[in-house]
Amino acid sequence: MFGLCCCGKRSAKVEDAFRQTDSSERSVTTPDTPTEKILWLYRLFGRPTKKRQCSVATSEDKPSGSKKKAKKRWWRRKNKVAPSPEEEECSKEEKRRDGPEDQKAKMMGAKSISTRQTRRYKCRGFPNPAQFCYMNSCLQSLLTLEDFVGAFRSQEQVWSSDPEAALIRAFMDIRESHLSPDAHRKIRLLVAFKEAVSVWAPEFQDFDQKDAHEFLTSVLDQMRSLCPQLQAAAASEGRIYSCPVEDHLVFKMQKTKTCKGCGAVSITEEEFTNLSLDLIPGGGTVEEMLRCYLKETELDYNCECGATTSCQRLSFVNLPKVLMLHLKRFRFTPSFQLQKVHDPVDLFRDLVVSSNQGGGCLSLVSTISHVSYTAECGHYICDGVDVNVAQEDPTDRWFTYNDEEVTETTGKAVCDERKNVSYILFYKRHD
Ligand SMILES: [Zn+2]
Repeated sequence: MFGLCCCGKRSAKVEDAFRQTDSSERSVTTPDTPTEKILWLYRLFGRPTKKRQCSVATSEDKPSGSKKKAKKRWWRRKNKVAPSPEEEECSKEEKRRDGPEDQKAKMMGAKSISTRQTRRYKCRGFPNPAQFCYMNSCLQSLLTLEDFVGAFRSQEQVWSSDPEAALIRAFMDIRESHLSPDAHRKIRLLVAFKEAVSVWAPEFQDFDQKDAHEFLTSVLDQMRSLCPQLQAAAASEGRIYSCPVEDHLVFKMQKTKTCKGCGAVSITEEEFTNLSLDLIPGGGTVEEMLRCYLKETELDYNCECGATTSCQRLSFVNLPKVLMLHLKRFRFTPSFQLQKVHDPVDLFRDLVVSSNQGGGCLSLVSTISHVSYTAECGHYICDGVDVNVAQEDPTDRWFTYNDEEVTETTGKAVCDERKNVSYILFYKRHD
């Protein structure tokens, strides 16, 4: 666990909330303990709704009508043709800004679009009242994976009423309010999501800064662990549940060990949701880092033939729809001090990866970056491709999500600007 602290800041909406509270509340300093902090957030923004509290309760605690209500909610969402008022408001605001000059810039491609980089898309952001930047960045990256999110949405009938699936419901509630300009509501949903994650991973319960990679892998592992139960629940109603984490992110690696004495080969396979890659001293590309990860290494290995060394080689059995790569920017010194590694990583939009099934080409769609010089202090931001823009669109439109501040950028700018800070990369496979 990396004990990183955060250069936290409050949004204007959160500042408003502070101003709106009475003078006795204003004089209260930010509490220290997790329990006090959560009560403090509840006092400012209200408790999560009863519906949310029910979602983490056991089936015995659940009101009898909740399943029916959840089905109604699913039906409403499924049959929703028009966007919600919030989405409409957000869309109108963006269209108002999208004047003739912007239309011309779109026609002229990525160079002109850079003139629009100072624009703000606040309704796409997430507030950061208490060191939420690691969680906000992970959520923005996951929401960029539209097929992954769509796989949850299309199976809402299965998870919406399952008492154990609070984490998926909290995630999809955030998805539903992604474009909402209501910062208070977003904070309630973020706190609810954090609480749902903390049920099985209590290390995320407090309001300290956390490692984004540890948080993300915990979220994905927890979503995946719900699969057997949701499959059983679906089967009891004559349905099929297919785990979106397994379908989109999980891949298999093959480990081949060859004894140096007798040449005996042993092959094992292991499933991953992401790979952790060492940085190349002085800099290198992601493809070079992957090659280093996959290259043959020598191992101590006691074989029946009496030999004590073997060669080990790793290879992709298959490629996932989305390949998540973690860049090891933190390491411990010999004196066990946490140190940040600043070696540059040359980022390109395309990545070619070979696998036992032939390999394929992938495109960068999102990054999570740790912006700071030291390991002890830092702030996470996310960059993600605009899911509404086709990959071949000349505007190459991306967004930079810095908590509630969201600005427009391009994939090229992200590759240029995140060389020294990129921490987690998401590549989407070309089908
Ligand atoms: Zn041997």
